[in-house]
Amino acid sequence: MIPAAFEYHRPSDLQAAIATLREFGDEARVVAGGHSLIPMMKLRMAAIAHLVDLSGIGELKGIRIDGTRVTIGATTTQHELIADKALGRTAPILREAALQIADPQVRYMGTVGGNVANGDPGNDMPALMQCLDATYTLVGPDGSREVKARDFYESAYMTARADDEILTAIRFTAEGGGYAYEKQKRKIGDYATAAAAVSLRKDGGSCSAAAIAMTNLSDVPVFAEAAGKALLGTSCTAADIGRAVEAALSVIEPTADNRGPVEFKRHVAGIIVRRAIERAWSRA
Ligand SMILES: Cc1cc2nc3c(=O)[nH]c(=O)nc-3n(C[C@H](O)[C@H](O)[C@H](O)COP(=O)(O)OP(=O)(O)OC[C@H]3O[C@@H](n4cnc5c(N)ncnc54)[C@H](O)[C@@H]3O)c2cc1C
Repeated sequence: MIPAAFEYHRPSDLQAAIATLREFGDEARVVAGGHSLIPMMKLRMAAIAHLVDLSGIGELKGIRIDGTRVTIGATTTQHELIADKALGRTAPILREAALQIADPQVRYMGTVGGNVANGDPGNDMPALMQCLDATYTLVGPDGSREVKARDFYESAYMTARADDEILTAIRFTAEGGGYAYEKQKRKIGDYATAAAAVSLRKDGGSCSAAAIAMTNLSDVPVFAEAAGKALLGTSCTAADIGRAVEAALSVIEPTADNRGPVEFKRHVAGIIVRRAIERAWSRA
């Protein structure tokens, strides 16, 4: 399929990109790796008159680690996340999750910023960023602001980002402890039927902190606050984990599609959340 004609812009700095978005308003959209947007354009589900390519903007690239503070530039690719050894030591859950996204070809092009800004409930990085309590930096004509990943998603493809804002970076503090990103998919390269990110800490045999978030089980990523709380102070026995799984399942709203009916998705979600907690606990 061939997309409708569009004009291509490749600014070399952020302000020029924002100015182009402003100039063309609704008709303009940024493109990063293009592996979500271009397929939509080819299918004629999106018609964009002006594409603003972010790949020439140096300040959007790269991973910086300062102690436990991690900053990831928006146009860092999923492949670069996987390959970064320091990031793998500081926040290994990112590597674990990124390796489960699509296939190497997609990961060479797809960016972290595109994955979290897209607003597709099937994208894996949004729930991961909610689990890590990450903050997104958005820059627009009126300056810069920070929005927590847990507050960013409003409904499918609708986020707190204004049309003329660019997501420039993702920041979080790596807490250490146990982690897991578990994903059930029909085949390599597929989006999740259900996936869960878990991060927790073990102090003296009991759970002192826990965060749980889920992918593709609602029209937004789901941060299951009560599920994390259910583990606090416990030693994560099967019964404790059962209570956390129940709390997680109480906040999802899966819909039937070609990955299965609602009952099946709830069943898979329960298994995936349980496995993610068990693995995170075993690593804590
Ligand atoms: C075959 C296939 C399988 C896939 N499987 C998975 C999967 O299992 N899991 C998964 O998570 N993803 C999957 N993807 C999606 C892939 O990871 C995308 O690359 C990613 O979601 C979007 O990143 P991108 O850089 O390609 O964004 P683009 O396609 O360039 O952009 C996506 C959207 O985000 C906006 N955007 C991009 N960057 C920014 C920014 N910095 N600021 C503001 N807005 C921005 C664009 O305007 C656009 O609306 C798959 C894609 C393909 C083609």
